Amino acid sequence: MPRFHISLLLILVLSCSGKPASNETMEGAIASDKEVVCFIYHRFGDSRYPSTNTPVKDFEAHLAYLKKNNFQLLTFSEAIEYLKSDKPARKTAVITIDDAYKTFYDRGLPLLKKYNVPATLFINTKTVGGGDYMSWTQLEESVKHNVEIGNHTHSHNFFLNQPAATRYKTFKDEIELSQTIINEKMNIRPVIFSFPYGEFDTKMKDIVKEAGFIAAAAQNSGVIYSGGDLFECPRFPMSESYSAQDKFIEKASMKALRISKRSPDDYIMPKGNRPTLTLTFDGDGLKLDQLQCFVQGGECELKVVDKQKVAVTLQAAKPMTKKRRTLYTITAPDKQGVWHWYSHLWIDAAID
Ligand SMILES: [Zn+2]
Repeated sequence: MPRFHISLLLILVLSCSGKPASNETMEGAIASDKEVVCFIYHRFGDSRYPSTNTPVKDFEAHLAYLKKNNFQLLTFSEAIEYLKSDKPARKTAVITIDDAYKTFYDRGLPLLKKYNVPATLFINTKTVGGGDYMSWTQLEESVKHNVEIGNHTHSHNFFLNQPAATRYKTFKDEIELSQTIINEKMNIRPVIFSFPYGEFDTKMKDIVKEAGFIAAAAQNSGVIYSGGDLFECPRFPMSESYSAQDKFIEKASMKALRISKRSPDDYIMPKGNRPTLTLTFDGDGLKLDQLQCFVQGGECELKVVDKQKVAVTLQAAKPMTKKRRTLYTITAPDKQGVWHWYSHLWIDAAID
């Protein structure tokens, strides 16, 4: 039993140390109001897979919009450094691509070159060179054109499906294996990580921190901000149902709804099919009478519990359709009419 207590304490200490106080960055510098909008893409012009595909014309329109509107465009790791730095705030966006499908090399990369936009590509090393995936030569070629390589594990497995007894060791071993392979093949040691399917628990997040990465990308939608938890950076998905230009512009203009406290503090779906999420945030400057919440595939019930520091609970109005991943989202406009966004992912690992 004492061993259990020590390891529990360690987990608690690690999870606290990863979250800087809201007015400090991890380096202890005063955080400014800096935010970064990050987008996630998978396949390009490959309509066989609508849920992970972006039409090429949509991708080109996204890049053209970001350039025309003077966004600072950075790789993922550069954006993290920018958030931690004392550089002045600028409209900033990051393009990320997960899985390294060939369609990125054939149809995405030429557009990045045309518009001179950097990007970050998260690769799962096991599949490089096979089937629909890019080869090492194509990855090398991409790096020459300002594409940063990130770690996306070796196998891209559903790690939450493994029993806790083996999950963490397998996850850690895979991250290290991927780092070794990328280093051997490309002479690069990635400093950023992306969770396969955006799925993780608190301990997996700690493992990524301990492995020396500077940040990790999740798949909840939302905006990254200085002082936030950089090991679960939200990204807006840009697959077919979200990639139309009006929707892209709406996301590119979005601000973070900065949550200071949430319960539960992870994404594991609790028992029952109408999970309750309680969030606390600073309502200063927000039009709280226009708070909205959304449950993917259903209706949402929103209750304001405390108006002073704004605590709200969100719950699906009806039992949710059984899905592996479901998002709860809350948004509110500020007094300038700019919308602020937070989304919470529920993962039910019992569903394939
Ligand atoms: Zn992936």
